[in-house]
Amino acid sequence: MAVLFVTSEFADFAKAGGLADVAASLPRALRRRGLDVRVMLPALPEVLEAGLPIQIVAALPGHAGIEPCLIGQMRTPDGLIVYPVLAPSLYQRPGTPYLTPEGHDWPDNDLRFARLALAAAAMARGLPGHDWTPRLLHCHDWPAALAPAYLRWQGIPARSVLTIHNLAHQGLFPAHRRAALGIPEAAFGIEGVEFHGQIGFLKAGLFYADHVTTVSPTYAREITTPELGGGLWGLTRGLAEAGRLTGIINGLDEGWDPAHDGYLLEPYDANRLAVKRRIADRLRTSLCLRPSNGPLFGMTSRLVHQKGIDLVAECAEAIVNRGGQIAILGTGEPAVEAMLLRLVRRHRGALSLMSGYNEPMAHRVLAASDFYLMPSRFEPCGLTQMQAQRYGALPIAHATGGLADTIVDGETGFLFSPFGPLAFMHAIDRAFTTYRDKDKFEAMRRAAMGLQFDWAGPAEEYENLYRTVAGIEPDRHGRSSTPMLRAVNAL
Ligand code: ADP
Repeated sequence: MAVLFVTSEFADFAKAGGLADVAASLPRALRRRGLDVRVMLPALPEVLEAGLPIQIVAALPGHAGIEPCLIGQMRTPDGLIVYPVLAPSLYQRPGTPYLTPEGHDWPDNDLRFARLALAAAAMARGLPGHDWTPRLLHCHDWPAALAPAYLRWQGIPARSVLTIHNLAHQGLFPAHRRAALGIPEAAFGIEGVEFHGQIGFLKAGLFYADHVTTVSPTYAREITTPELGGGLWGLTRGLAEAGRLTGIINGLDEGWDPAHDGYLLEPYDANRLAVKRRIADRLRTSLCLRPSNGPLFGMTSRLVHQKGIDLVAECAEAIVNRGGQIAILGTGEPAVEAMLLRLVRRHRGALSLMSGYNEPMAHRVLAASDFYLMPSRFEPCGLTQMQAQRYGALPIAHATGGLADTIVDGETGFLFSPFGPLAFMHAIDRAFTTYRDKDKFEAMRRAAMGLQFDWAGPAEEYENLYRTVAGIEPDRHGRSSTPMLRAVNAL
């Protein structure tokens, strides 16, 4: 089975969030199962600077307002084949894959990612002189979501799967860009790319992909509701009713292992939990937290509204009053950071904020913590709660998305619902009670550390899905003939 991953991030080279990890780990897990999975991504500066030889395999013409490009081929040291899309005027830029160094969207992001999607469709048609043609495109998030649409518009029979890592990012652009993007006039409607008068890349992917997945079963249900459906819940509900929406939980890389963690001075496992105490004492010293016998509550997070930092701020005083301490590592919205800095001033010695992105420190905070705070408003999958459990830090998390799917309440962590300070505080109180009951606390930590979060299970689910989707026959319009279209038409 030849499958092409289409992605804007890939952890080997370019990472902005969790998508990069999935795009790097899942193809490798699928290759271990014998699938021929390869990856296509924009040739961002980091890709070219990786120092791997690049061989040019094709030159693609422009289309509408989309520039021509070259398709390269490179091989990672472990043998994964990567196709960078070489269009220097689009991709040779500083900043993240999406943003200028000042943090603004690049004004031509539509053309930049349409170029990626179009290149993927061309590959699925077959590149002259290149001996590999994918049978299925696995597209990730809005930057790749036009690929299933180009397949349909150009009559290319390859199948497509779209994975939504976060429905909050929809890739919306003004309607007047339609011609530049090569979107047929007839496709600018509810049965196509149009979303409230704009061009919606993610909407297009939801409409044209043969199958849609999200990164946890609970999130797959949640995006069919008005609350978390981002205005697309009519479409997602139609997909769900037609059996075309699936949630598959992400795996966690085996590198997250306290027994083999180069960032820790002392490794440990479930039989050497006393080591955690020493790591915590060292962290307290380095963060200017007072020596303490109380529990340490860790948090590593992007500091954004989604992550519920406001609940942490509301409950911080109660945690400190009960003898707890809080160590937060994160970076994000200036207003959220400013709010946390005010808290630090109020609770010196009991609460610390390390501002910035710091991978070694993320490992040390996990290892030092007794509990981990994750009161996310929504969480498509979440990796941090899996990392926390593997490091014996019990997560205290809102029962949403992947948090609800990976934490067993009262056994490997604490879940609360509804979202709000009362329920959160109740969960924190349960954590304090557990901390005082040493046997229960140790049993929970052992259970959490014993959970399996590897990629083997998810990779098997994706393989089964690919086989089902690859078996779908297109109808006479070149679209997949399934109840999904009937469901969408009925909206
Ligand atoms: P999201 O993808 O929404 O940011 P996840 O929980 O899925 O949330 O993944 C976040 C990942 O980024 C985790 O591996 C976490 O440890 C890491 N991370 C987040 N913030 C920081 C930071 N400031 N420093 C180091 N690692 C961070």
